[in-house]
Amino acid sequence: MSLIGQHIAVVGAGIGGLACARALALRGASVTVLEQAPEIAEVGAGLQVSPNGMAVLRAIGLEDELRATGAPRAEGVTLRNRNGGVVARMALDGLKRPEDYLFVHRADLIDVLAQGARQAGVRINLLQHVAQIDPGPRPCVRLSQGARVQADLVVAADGLHSSLMTQLNPGADPFFTGQVAWRALIPGDGGPAEAEVFMGPGRHLVTYPLRGGAVRNIVAVEERRSWVEARWSQKDDPDNLRVAFAGMGPAVRGMLDDVRYVHLWGLFRHEVAAQWTGENVALLGDAAHPTLPFLAQGASMALEDAWVLADSLSRADDAATGLALYQSRRRARARRVIGAANGNAWKYHLRGPFALGAHMGMRMIGTLAPSA
Ligand code: FAD
Repeated sequence: MSLIGQHIAVVGAGIGGLACARALALRGASVTVLEQAPEIAEVGAGLQVSPNGMAVLRAIGLEDELRATGAPRAEGVTLRNRNGGVVARMALDGLKRPEDYLFVHRADLIDVLAQGARQAGVRINLLQHVAQIDPGPRPCVRLSQGARVQADLVVAADGLHSSLMTQLNPGADPFFTGQVAWRALIPGDGGPAEAEVFMGPGRHLVTYPLRGGAVRNIVAVEERRSWVEARWSQKDDPDNLRVAFAGMGPAVRGMLDDVRYVHLWGLFRHEVAAQWTGENVALLGDAAHPTLPFLAQGASMALEDAWVLADSLSRADDAATGLALYQSRRRARARRVIGAANGNAWKYHLRGPFALGAHMGMRMIGTLAPSA
C-alpha cells in the first residue's frame, strides 16, 4: 500500500520509535512522534550496534551520520575471568561486515535518529504522556492531559511498560529477571577497541570504549533476589558498585575507582508478545520483546523492527495484511535472539570448573546473522 499521505502516530522517541518514524516518513507518510519526556535526552551510557543494526541505519540513510560521531569500530570480544585472565576471544572477522560493529554512545545514536527524523519531516511532540491507545478503523491515542490524537495507524514504541502490549496480550506483565545492572562512563584510557567481559560468580562486568576512546563504558551486572525500588532505574552511590565487585581483580577495581556517577537498573522483561498488532496498531522494539542485555541486541532489534514494519506496510495491499506480514517476519527471529541472550545470562555467571566449557559455547550475534 502507498504510505504517501497516511497519518501515522508513533508513541515513544526512543531508538525504535525514531528509526520507525524516519523509515515511514521516507516512504511518504505524515508522521508525528509523541514522547512523554520534556526533552530527548539520554542517561550517559553506551551500547553496541552490530551489523544488523547498521544495515538498518544504512537503509534509512543515517550510516555516515552515526560514524561521524566517532563511534569506534569493535575489534573483538574478550572473555576474562575475574582476575583478568583470558578465557576466550571472539574475533569479529566471521561477520560479513565486521566494520559495521560499532560501540556507540546512546545519546549520539538518539541525536542522529532524532535529527534524521526531523529532516524527513517528522514532528516530535514532547511532554505528551500517552494513557491509552484504542485500536480501530481510525485508531486513537488518548493523552493523559485529556487530548486525543487520531491517525490512520499507531505504532507503540513505548518500551518495556507499553500499555498497548498488555492490552493486546492480557496477563503478559513485565517481571524482574533477578539481575540488576549499573551503567557508568569513566575517562578513556587508550585501550583497544574491543569489548571485555570480566566474569565471576553471580556477576559480570562489560566494558568498551566510546567516542574515539575518549570515554569508556561500563555495564556491571549482579544477581539479586528482588527489586524493591518503585522505579526501574535510579541514581546510585558508586561505592555500592565498588563493594559489589570488590572480589574482582585489579583491572576491574581500577576501573571502578574512576566511577563518579552511576545509574542502577533493575532488569525486567516479559515474554516476546504473542500478538504484535491489532486493528491499525502495532508494537515495536522493547514494547514487543524486551531482552536481557547479554547479547547486546535490544537496540539493534528495535532498529530491525522499524525497517521491517515500514517495508511490510509498503509491500502489502492494505494495513491489515502489512501488519500481519510484519509480525510474521519479526516474531520468530525476536524469540530466537532473546532466547540466546537468556542463555548467555547463566553462562556469564557460572560457578566452578564447568564455567570454561560453557563459555566456549556462548552465543554471539555473529552466529545469528541478520535478515533485515
Ligand atoms: P526505549 O528506548 O525504552 O524507548 C521508549 C520511549 O518511549 C522512551 O523515550 C519513553 O520515554 C517513551 N515512552 C514510554 N512510555 C510512554 C508513554 N506512556 N507516553 C509517551 N512516551 C512514552 N541494546 C543494544 O542493542 N546493545 C547494547 O549494548 C545494549 N545494552 C544495554 C544495557 C542495559 C543495562 C540495558 C538496560 C539495555 C541495553 N540495551 C542494549 C537494550 C536497549 O537499550 C533497548 O532494547 C532499546 O533502547 C529499546 O528501544 P525502544 O525504542 O524499543 O524503547
